[in-house]
Amino acid sequence: MPAAKDHQYYDLVVIGGGPGGLTAAIYGGRARLKTLVIEKSLIGGLATYTNEICNFPGFPDGIGGLELMRQFEKQAKHFGVEFKISPVKAVSLDGDDKTVETFRTVYHAKAVVIATGGKPRLLGVPGEELFLYDKGISFCATCDAASCKDKVVMVIGSGDAAVEEGLFLTKFASKVIMSVIHEEGHMDANAVAQQDAMREPKMEFRWNTVVDHFEGEGRLESVVLKDTRTGELLPEVVDRCFYFIGYLPATDLFRGQVTLDERGYIPTNTRMQTNIEGVFAAGDVRQTCLRQVATAVGDGAIAGFEAERYIAELEVYEKQLMQAELPGMIYVYSPIDQRSRDFLPVVREIERHFAGQVKLSLVDTYKGECLAGRLGAVDTPSLVYTRNGKVVGKTKVLEPQRIEASLRDLIEHEEFELAE
Ligand SMILES: Cc1cc2nc3c(=O)[nH]c(=O)nc-3n(C[C@H](O)[C@H](O)[C@H](O)COP(=O)(O)OP(=O)(O)OC[C@H]3O[C@@H](n4cnc5c(N)ncnc54)[C@H](O)[C@@H]3O)c2cc1C
Repeated sequence: MPAAKDHQYYDLVVIGGGPGGLTAAIYGGRARLKTLVIEKSLIGGLATYTNEICNFPGFPDGIGGLELMRQFEKQAKHFGVEFKISPVKAVSLDGDDKTVETFRTVYHAKAVVIATGGKPRLLGVPGEELFLYDKGISFCATCDAASCKDKVVMVIGSGDAAVEEGLFLTKFASKVIMSVIHEEGHMDANAVAQQDAMREPKMEFRWNTVVDHFEGEGRLESVVLKDTRTGELLPEVVDRCFYFIGYLPATDLFRGQVTLDERGYIPTNTRMQTNIEGVFAAGDVRQTCLRQVATAVGDGAIAGFEAERYIAELEVYEKQLMQAELPGMIYVYSPIDQRSRDFLPVVREIERHFAGQVKLSLVDTYKGECLAGRLGAVDTPSLVYTRNGKVVGKTKVLEPQRIEASLRDLIEHEEFELAE
């Protein structure tokens, strides 16, 4: 029989310790949330694979990916963030008690940030594993183009990303060779990009080819292509090879719970909220137009901030709005709406009338939009009645006499009915 799992409790659990996850954790830790980052391999994520990051603001001379990520980690630890190195195996994200499981432990969290990033799709041909990343096979022209000045590079793929990034590479490289699986003149990219590529003197095409294998002594020296019609092997001497054949988000774990788009990325709104309350996504795993350290950091900051806000609201909801000592009357109002403002002194007067028998709480939808959503009272102004820590009635009809009759019923009778 498998050993029973240990249970541990946190405010915020961040899945993935790349730049997105670490930033969310810094914001969580700084807001004094009990925060845990669970990372399956190396703290720092994909950013640690790059020798030099030149486009992250604040480092005009560039900085090593590993070094930058060490600083992120140190800052998170400074704010009390805890780390666990283990792959997350299962999650249960619905409801207020969310669980994230590793081999031995079930971590309970009030809020979860998904920052699992992803990885570039590989070809799986011989030699590939030997030359990944700083050994010659790249996946990011924005990141590595500057190191290709006056070099010969190869691009694999013929979709929009391949052709557009290939064109970008011509600004640096002396020659960009594109390996295209299709017949001469056929690419998968949009027509404008195709035309631009065909006109670009630095670009050359190897039609009807696929990669057979890679060769080199310690570093990539040549890509051996294969003609798909004849089977002939065609070695090309190159300094670097860029893959643009797709990217795979690490989202299998969340399938069936979190909404994914057709490519497996997590759609969020601008507050990094997913379809599940209290679950946020940040960085490369998100449906977005740019996947970089700077964008992951921005997403992580918003996700950490929103997680803190969500948890604060959850506490207000449980401890104040759903208090069980007295029957409750919650006035949900918008401070920018005249009718809402005018009625505020009226509910206060009604509470005075029922002093000691009813507790009045106020929800300002401007500050507490999620609270109003949780109460199911998004229209303002409206009233929500509670008893024994549960919502028993809601109304948008605000007439003092009816409210008083409803409150008498709430105080005196087991069965509650809103006064007509
Ligand atoms: C070679 C290379 C060079 C790059 N150069 C640059 C550059 O110069 N400038 C730039 O801005 N960007 C660069 N990038 C892109 C940048 O690294 C990414 O955009 C950034 O790392 C994304 O951060 P993230 O936190 O969203 O995801 P990631 O960095 O991918 O981190 C996700 C983390 O989640 C972990 N994880 C996944 N699944 C699980 C699980 N089940 N349980 C626990 N942990 C899990 C992974 O192990 C990983 O550590 C480069 C990328 C590569 C590959």
